[in-house]
Amino acid sequence: MARRKIIAGNWKMNMTPTEAVELIETLKPLVASDEVDVVFCVPAIDIIPAVAAVKGTNIAIGAENMYFEESGAYTGETSPKMLTEAGVKYVIIGHSERREYFAESDETVNKKVLKAFAHNLTPIVCCGESLTQREQGITIDWIRQQIKIAFLNVSADQAATAVIAYEPIWAIGTGKVATTEQAQEVCAAIRVCMAEIYDQATADAIRIQYGGSVTAASAAELFSQADIDGGLVGGASLKPDFGKIVNYK
Ligand code: PEP
Repeated sequence: MARRKIIAGNWKMNMTPTEAVELIETLKPLVASDEVDVVFCVPAIDIIPAVAAVKGTNIAIGAENMYFEESGAYTGETSPKMLTEAGVKYVIIGHSERREYFAESDETVNKKVLKAFAHNLTPIVCCGESLTQREQGITIDWIRQQIKIAFLNVSADQAATAVIAYEPIWAIGTGKVATTEQAQEVCAAIRVCMAEIYDQATADAIRIQYGGSVTAASAAELFSQADIDGGLVGGASLKPDFGKIVNYK
């Protein structure tokens, strides 16, 4: 089954609202594509101007995070309903920076994944091992555990629409991209894990991205692997190079 590639930018804590609109205007013509889904995941404060700026284009806007409650006394958080009303389609959940700096656990990731589906948001569920874990040879075990907890109580129909981003922590923002073999091996293992949890058809429908220092130079080889259905791109998504990553063929 041919899966449509999905290439998402993760802007992290970059771009004021004015800068966000300027960047979108620069990137719009460069990321035009009929072949792949293009997503810009932007800071919460940039969402409303970003949604307006991409109107009529092939770009969808994603959030970088959300909370798992509907509303209430959760100072500083953004609810799923706020995101959908603003026009957001995707939400990154469990990025390693959130796990590291904001103490997000596999359990909170699961709560957020469930809530995203409940609000018709497509979660981009992040997983990835540290360098120590890779050196210890426990990468696949670790990723399988992250995935199993993230998808607890998620139905097969929902899971089939999910996006999973495999992002080795040692490759994020380091300029040290995983080899195509390393990336494909883990993405294939994630698909096997999903087939075990659900069934082969569900696993075959899920889109699995690679993320970690993807550039225009590495995109084509990575995205041509059997189980890699696109990328989650940090640094390079803020530059005109993102156009080359989207049009990697
Ligand atoms: C990321 O933050 O998801 C990421 C992959 O960053 P970078 O491309 O900069 O390594």
